[in-house]
Amino acid sequence: VNVKGSALRARVQWVQKMGPDAERTFMEALQPETRSMVQSCILVSDWYPFATFIELNTVIDRLFGKGDLALCKDLGRFACDVNLKTLYRLFFKLGSVKFIIGRCAAAWRVNYDHGEMHVAAMGDDWACLRVTGVPAPHRAHCLAVFGWIERATELSGGKVTRAVERCRLRGDPECEFELAWTT
Ligand SMILES: [Zn+2]
Repeated sequence: VNVKGSALRARVQWVQKMGPDAERTFMEALQPETRSMVQSCILVSDWYPFATFIELNTVIDRLFGKGDLALCKDLGRFACDVNLKTLYRLFFKLGSVKFIIGRCAAAWRVNYDHGEMHVAAMGDDWACLRVTGVPAPHRAHCLAVFGWIERATELSGGKVTRAVERCRLRGDPECEFELAWTT
């Protein structure tokens, strides 16, 4: 599986926001080949290995979080802020929460070259998104996607009233994200 450079770039931007000391610590903690990739510049429209994406997330969580991957959800929220806002600014201006949720599912193909996300069920003020076909799921990734969808809902004017995550890695049959909101 490959991940779009914009997702990796957002993680690096998150670290840079923490200051030069944090950035130095982060760079030192990366694998040599990942470090040289980050140093040489990440192209937002290029594809990068899923393992590299996971490495950035887990290293950030270990250094700046609690090492329980919880920070990965915040990284997903941040990536939504920096990427989706510029990419889909017009949608956010015009679209309802339901419309944006549908766009989020479709945006999967922009960000990953394997697997898919689709709207499994949707009501007027709730939706369930399901991720399928990811060969080797990782909790860091599932949590990042969860945070990303939650933030997209907020950016489109929804106040999230319920957010439930189900994950294959926790014994659930599917990786699913269920959200309810008020506007
Ligand atoms: Zn999962």
